[in-house]
Amino acid sequence: MIKINNYINGEFQPAKHFLEDLNPATGEVIAKIPKSGLNEVEKAVNAADEARTLWSNIGLEERADWLHKIADALEARSDEIASLESLDTGKPIALARAVDASRSVANFRFFAQFAKEFTVEDFEMDDAMNHVILKPVGIAGLITPWNLPLYLLSWKIAPAIVMGNTVVAKPSELTPLTANLLSEVIDEIGLPAGVVNIVHGFGSEAGQFIVENSKVNLISFTGGTTTGKMVAATAAPMFKKLSLELGGKNATIVLEDTDLDKSIPEIVRSGFMNQGQVCLCGSRILVSDKIWEEFVDKFVNHVKSMKVGDPSSSNSDLGALISSSHRDKVESYIHLAQREGGEILCGGKSPNLSPPFDRGFFLEPTVISGLSHMSRTATEEIFGPVVTIHPFKSDKEAIEMANCTDYGLAGSVWTGDAKRGKELAEQIETGMVWVNTWLHRDLRVPFGGIKNSGVGREGGRWSLSFFSEAVNICVKNKQ
Ligand code: NAD
Repeated sequence: MIKINNYINGEFQPAKHFLEDLNPATGEVIAKIPKSGLNEVEKAVNAADEARTLWSNIGLEERADWLHKIADALEARSDEIASLESLDTGKPIALARAVDASRSVANFRFFAQFAKEFTVEDFEMDDAMNHVILKPVGIAGLITPWNLPLYLLSWKIAPAIVMGNTVVAKPSELTPLTANLLSEVIDEIGLPAGVVNIVHGFGSEAGQFIVENSKVNLISFTGGTTTGKMVAATAAPMFKKLSLELGGKNATIVLEDTDLDKSIPEIVRSGFMNQGQVCLCGSRILVSDKIWEEFVDKFVNHVKSMKVGDPSSSNSDLGALISSSHRDKVESYIHLAQREGGEILCGGKSPNLSPPFDRGFFLEPTVISGLSHMSRTATEEIFGPVVTIHPFKSDKEAIEMANCTDYGLAGSVWTGDAKRGKELAEQIETGMVWVNTWLHRDLRVPFGGIKNSGVGREGGRWSLSFFSEAVNICVKNKQ
C-alpha cells in the first residue's frame, strides 16, 4: 500500500484525513491519499505567496534551468512514471510509456527552451517607444483530470513556473500517484520551497478552496464542462485569469476518396485510445455514403480484433475505465443508444476476464450505428470506448453534422485530397482540426476549444501569455 502526502513549502505534509485510491484493473485499494481541506489549501497558498518574490526575481534563464533539472530527474524515472500511470489509470503500459511518460518530460524541456526564445514586440511611435514586458501573474491554481495525469499537470506547471509564478496544484483524486512522484523529483533537485505545492483531495473541497482563495490570481482548469461552469462561476467575480479546457464530442469525417486501409487504423486509434478517455477522441464518425458499407465492415473488423485486458501486458490494446461509476455512466449511454434506435455492431458489454481482472472496470470497444446524428448518444460526451457512426451524402451535410453539438474542441478529416480536407477543416467549429492524422502534436500551436469545450488557449506562446501579465511602458523620446 502506497501512502502519499501533500507537498507544501518544500515538505511532505500528512493530512488529518485520507482517501482510498483504487487500481481500476482489479478494484483493489493501492494507495491512501490526503483528503485535504481548507487548512491544507491555505498552508499551500501561503507557501506559494512567500516564494513569489524570490522566484520572480531569479530571472527567466535560471528558472528555465530548473525546468531542465526537473525534466532530467523525471526522465531518469520514466519507467516508473509509466508503471504508476498504468496502475493508477488502468491504461495499457505501452501507451503510458509512449504518451504519458515521454510527454511529461517533453513538457518541461519544451517550455524551458521556448520561454527563452519567446520575445514580445516593442511598438515604435513618431515621438515615443512602447516597451511590452511580461510579469508573473502571481499564484497559479492548477486543477487537472485523471485521464492524462502527469502529462496535463506538467503541461500547466512548466509554463506557470518558467514565467515566474508560484503554484498550488490539485491533481485528480482518482490518479494521484505520478503527481506524488513529481513532488519527490522537485524535492530531490531542491527547487526553492513553495514554488510548487501539490495538494491532494476532492475537487469539491481542495479544488474549490483553491479557486475560492483570494490570493490565487489565476486558475488553469482541465476537466469536465459541468465542473468548468462551477469553477468559472467562482473565479469570474474575483477577476481571476481563467483558462478552461473542457469536454468534447469530436467528429471524424471520412470522405469517399480516403485510402481506407491506411486511415482505418488511425481512425480506430482516435476513437479508442486510452479506452476513449481522451478529450480529443473522435467519438462521432461521419462517413460518406459512397463508401459506407466498406468502411463499416473494415472498421468493425479492426475494432473486434483489439484485445481488452491486463494493462501491464504489452498484448493489451485497451485497459480498464477509470472507475466503476464511470463504467456505469458509459454503459448507461449504450443502453440509451438502444432505446434511441441504435444497433450495436460490436462490443457493448464487459469482457470475460480471469481473476483479478474480473473485478476491474473493463468494457469492450463498442461501435453503434443507426442513430440520428442529433440523438443524445451522438451529441453528449460519453468519454469511454464507444463510437457512433453515421452516413452523410455531401460535404455540406458532413459539416452540418460535425457542427451540430454544443461542444467545439477538435475534429479530423480523412481524404486523399489534402486541399479539400483543409477547406472542410476550416468550416468545422472547433479549436483544433487534424487532416489525415489525429493527435499529431506540435507543442508550439494553440490548444483549446470553443463553445462548451472551453475558454482560452494553452500551448506555446498562448501558455506563456496566459501565465504572465503583459505590461506596456510607453517612453516619450523627449520631455
Ligand atoms: P472533473 O471535472 O470531474 O475533474 C477535473 C478536476 O477538477 C479534478 O481534479 C477534480 O477533483 C476537480 N474538481 C471537481 N470539482 C471541482 C470544483 N468544484 N472546484 C475545483 N475543482 C474541482 O473531470 P474528470 O472526470 O477528472 O475528467 C474528465 C473530463 O475532462 C472530460 O470531460 C474530458 O473531456 C475533460 N478533459 C478535457 C481536456 C481538454 O484539454 N479540453 C483534457 C482532458 C480531459
